[in-house]
Amino acid sequence: MNCLFCKIVTKQIPSENIYEDGSSLAFLDIHPKARGHTLIIPKTHAENILDISPESLQALILTIQKVTGILHASLNPAGFTIGINHGKGAGQEVDHLHVHVIPRFKGDGGGNINMVVSNPSTEPISATAQLIRQKKA
Ligand code: AMP
Ligand code: ZN
Repeated sequence: MNCLFCKIVTKQIPSENIYEDGSSLAFLDIHPKARGHTLIIPKTHAENILDISPESLQALILTIQKVTGILHASLNPAGFTIGINHGKGAGQEVDHLHVHVIPRFKGDGGGNINMVVSNPSTEPISATAQLIRQKKA
């Protein structure tokens, strides 16, 4: 498969790995938004969290915890922003699931996740909730 991050897993493309286990890999983002900006991926290709087995997703989440701890101990940031760009509409550029772990430092000028978008519906949230509850599997 012609996937950039699968090629990182198989070492066809170099990466600055900081953690690896049987199912996940963590490496530094090539265009870091902050010192220590890390991407965590499942080693088996999955496009997003709807396309991955529950077992692999559990392992991935445990790796997020481990890697965040490693970055906390090594870089001592003031906090972290942790997130996924899911789908082209949300800015996903690499079609292999990856979790961004971005260390945040005092005075870095960044915002929080609530600042990614401000596009609320005009309907009350009770109506939205009712619709979602009706449609859920
Ligand atoms: P996105 O799909 O928008 O969540 O972002 C993809 C991320 O992958 C970007 O932050 C890129 O800087 C990063 N990236 C792209 N190619 C590489 C690479 N070869 N090694 C490490 N990070 C990469
Ligand atoms: Zn892949």
